[in-house]
Amino acid sequence: MTDKSRRKFNKLLGTGLVAVPIAGLMGTLPSRAADKPLLDAGTAQAKALQYMAESDKKGKICGNCTLFQGAAGDETGPCPLFGENVVSSKAWCSAWVAKA
Ligand code: SF4
Repeated sequence: MTDKSRRKFNKLLGTGLVAVPIAGLMGTLPSRAADKPLLDAGTAQAKALQYMAESDKKGKICGNCTLFQGAAGDETGPCPLFGENVVSSKAWCSAWVAKA
């Protein structure tokens, strides 16, 4: 193997050694909101916050709560109180605070 081909080989090897750990990391990154399941109102945390999938509080829904992290018009979105799930924009819980 010549010096030139050895350098080229080492360069490719270096690229591969970097690419593999980055690819491995991708599986450990937090999942995107779109990948999270819709919150089940029957969970202990949801019950503790009186979460209801369809609000019966006039004018108070997740979609207009300051903690709702979905975009305007989204049917579901993340809420920091339920980090493993998304909540329905039509839902409500006792932590509701009007969006400013
Ligand atoms: S705090 Fe409650 S009302 Fe506000 S977005 Fe989260 S679940 Fe919905």
